[in-house]
Amino acid sequence: MSKKIEGFEKTLWLSSPTMHGPELEYMTQAYKTNWMSTVGTNINEVERLACEKIGCKYAVALSAGTAALHMAVKLAGVKHGDKVFCSDMTFAATINPVVYEGGEPIFIDTEYDTWNMDPVALEKAFEIYPEVKVVVVVHLYGTPGKVDEIKAICDKHGAVIIEDAAESLGATYKGIQTGTFGKYNAISYNGNKIITGSSGGMLLTNDEEAAKKVKKWSTQARENAPWYQHEELGYNYRMSNVIAGVVRGQYPYLEEHIAQKKAIYERYKEGFKDLPVKMNPYDAENSEPNFWLSCILINPESMCKQIRGEQEALYVREVEKSCPTEILETLLKYKAEGRPIWKPMHMQPIYRMNGFVTREGNGRAKTNAYISGGSIGKDGKPLDVGMDIFCRGLCLPSDNKMTQEQQNIVIEIIKSTFL
Ligand SMILES: *Cc1c(COP(=O)(O)O)cnc(C)c1O
Repeated sequence: MSKKIEGFEKTLWLSSPTMHGPELEYMTQAYKTNWMSTVGTNINEVERLACEKIGCKYAVALSAGTAALHMAVKLAGVKHGDKVFCSDMTFAATINPVVYEGGEPIFIDTEYDTWNMDPVALEKAFEIYPEVKVVVVVHLYGTPGKVDEIKAICDKHGAVIIEDAAESLGATYKGIQTGTFGKYNAISYNGNKIITGSSGGMLLTNDEEAAKKVKKWSTQARENAPWYQHEELGYNYRMSNVIAGVVRGQYPYLEEHIAQKKAIYERYKEGFKDLPVKMNPYDAENSEPNFWLSCILINPESMCKQIRGEQEALYVREVEKSCPTEILETLLKYKAEGRPIWKPMHMQPIYRMNGFVTREGNGRAKTNAYISGGSIGKDGKPLDVGMDIFCRGLCLPSDNKMTQEQQNIVIEIIKSTFL
């Protein structure tokens, strides 16, 4: 290393909660009024705030984004054995609720323009599985996917969209907020998201009946009777009024958080302009991400040798080259937290038997003999786009409290791995 880089005294996080003050006031209000329950003013207010901000008719506050996705899958009518198309490069919580209902996720490969579901692969998937009626789409890292293309394909095939906007709260596509494009949509207030309640999530919809059902299901599905009367399966999924206080206090700061995240993204972009890497891309003409996480993708010719097993990774240091493993290990040495790209679902042991469709059709048939870079498509590009991005990409420290000086150090650390 040419110059000495100072490490961080305290860990520099990938993305940590940022509190402002009003959160504590609303929590205290819940305490003082004794609404220490899953009913109360904070819940009503936070549902109103979400509808107002996002532009949907109904928001139902729940204990987690995962609970919201589960309710969405139920609303969409997924039954045992039903195949459901799902984004492949995502967090497992996008997928698991499909399985809670006995559905069978079929993974749709990723495109390079926004790192989200590839409409070409989705169209292929409908050729292979024309019976599918539900599609779960994520906007990864806060970047809106190809909404118009995906909607057109789903409309053509009469399929319902469930939008997982857990990471993309506040992001817009053609001026419209994510979380409004599906029939049933989910957002999350998990501790690492752009605003947080420490936990929590919401089901968003314009369908009044659907919102009513979720309110009922999420509070144990009690019928209107003097005793506990049940006709349907219930869940204990409602948001707590204390948590809702935190979320309520955070809403006014959503835009500030997005601005900070965007500045971080722009500074990384500028800082890396002489390195053989690209930032996670977005469609600047049609969309405005919330820039939740900044990521980089290393150019293929600048990748040193790297191999990943199921639990560990190895790499060989090479001059003028680097790889996600080298960068992540180096960041960690200086107490900065990065993270690999979310490992594609079709490569997860739990989902190894599920279908996977690339832009050329059945990906399982074509990428079985998977070796690091994977097979190449007819267009000369990697056929398994998700695995290519997983191999060459990583998420960088993107905490909105990170100072410019701290970020400059992160940039220097990453540059040093390419020496
Ligand atoms: C965080 C997250 C979820 C789950 O949200 P929780 O509130 O943690 O349950 C779902 N999908 C994606 C893409 C996420 O990042």
